[in-house]
Amino acid sequence: MGFPKQFEDRVTNDDFLGQQLLIALDEQAPVSIRINPKKMSEPTSFKRKIDWCANGYYLNVRPSFIADPLFHAGSYYPQEAGSMVIDKILRLLELPEEPVILDLCAAPGGKSTLIATFLNNSGLLVSNEVINSRAKILRENLVKWGALNTIVTNNDPDDFGKLKHFFDVLVVDAPCSGEGMFRKDPKSRDEWSEENIHLCSLRQKRILGDAWDALKPGGFLIYSTCTFNENENEENVRFIAELGAEQIDLNLPEPITKGREGIGSYFIPGRTDAEGFFVALLQKHEGSSSKQKLDQKKEFKPLKDTSIVKDLVFPDGINFYQWNEKVFVFPAQTCDRILHVISKMHILKAGVMIGEIQRKGITPSEELALSTDLVNWQNRIELTQEQALKYLHGDTFALEAKPGLHLVTFEKQPLGWIKHLGNRFNNLYPKDWRIRMNLDKLSY
Ligand code: SAM
Repeated sequence: MGFPKQFEDRVTNDDFLGQQLLIALDEQAPVSIRINPKKMSEPTSFKRKIDWCANGYYLNVRPSFIADPLFHAGSYYPQEAGSMVIDKILRLLELPEEPVILDLCAAPGGKSTLIATFLNNSGLLVSNEVINSRAKILRENLVKWGALNTIVTNNDPDDFGKLKHFFDVLVVDAPCSGEGMFRKDPKSRDEWSEENIHLCSLRQKRILGDAWDALKPGGFLIYSTCTFNENENEENVRFIAELGAEQIDLNLPEPITKGREGIGSYFIPGRTDAEGFFVALLQKHEGSSSKQKLDQKKEFKPLKDTSIVKDLVFPDGINFYQWNEKVFVFPAQTCDRILHVISKMHILKAGVMIGEIQRKGITPSEELALSTDLVNWQNRIELTQEQALKYLHGDTFALEAKPGLHLVTFEKQPLGWIKHLGNRFNNLYPKDWRIRMNLDKLSY
């Protein structure tokens, strides 16, 4: 598939990008994943590690992720290698002990799962997506990643004005014209136009301006896109600087390329083993941080009857909350801030909703099944790959077990719940998450 004519002309005449880029964009894209160190120690086979991310690996071949139950268990996340540089950048920052990070344009969750691993259950990640259907996918990916200290919101960037000076880090991985995806996703070539670049650039400025107040004075903003043009990249970094921030030189090693006029950094296919990616780091000017009173949503109350959770084993340092019949676990350290976000935003996930109170006790949720630090369920059934795929497809099949609730696992990683009735079981895997493909079509 060819390139849009105006794109080809622009790249050909742009010394910064060079014609080499056009050749590279027609070559094969490298395949990479980032592992979840709480669920996996290393991929079974890989080509080499990625220099700029502690948990990133290039693979030799593109496997069928759908056919791998460990992918559904949240043991790893397929992610373009350049985007993983957020890990290196976060490690450069001087942050408070319990940092609060907002990932503003977060679906499907590549950067958010990376940030959750970086935080390692300290601090708090608020992961936001404005488009509802995409926010549900974001929730699914974060539930599967299993971290306790994450909230998923479904808000417009403008709503974050209600959380003034709340965040230590703001990550804006902006919707963009996607020139850097021309290789991985050739369809994106059809959607490209000069006019769209202009619209994207305006939208990005609006997003940045809307969320600006949510960042604390002295806090950090990581701005990124997967495109190569100046209007969506360097121009927007200048725009952020005008809002009141200083660019911080990332000094990323060659072959990562400094942006035009030294603004930001680029991953350019052909030079780096990655898709096209632009990233810049800025620090908001110091100033007086207006401390907001932390509100609480009235409907969320500390769990009164803790005997209800006595059969579940939990680590120290957590608080139980209740909203109607739902029981939540929040890390004690950031509990007040979680309750504040809940009081202001449209929430799809907060901490871990461990289950619902019913007459006979608590019915555990899929969030509990997949949480890395909480689930400690005795009744487990290890499935073969074939059984696991059937389970993830929503099927039932012959499986011997005592009647009751069981956690089903693959290579010891929890996938979800079944309720065994003695002669058959009910598959409790969430309907929205099920593999929709015909299993006969999957090769594994
Ligand atoms: N950070 C994500 C990741 O690593 O998986 C990818 C984010 S993608 C580049 C940009 C996201 O911005 C999309 O999910 C898109 O739905 C969202 N978006 C689109 N319009 C938006 C707007 N006006 N304000 C905020 N986000 C928007």
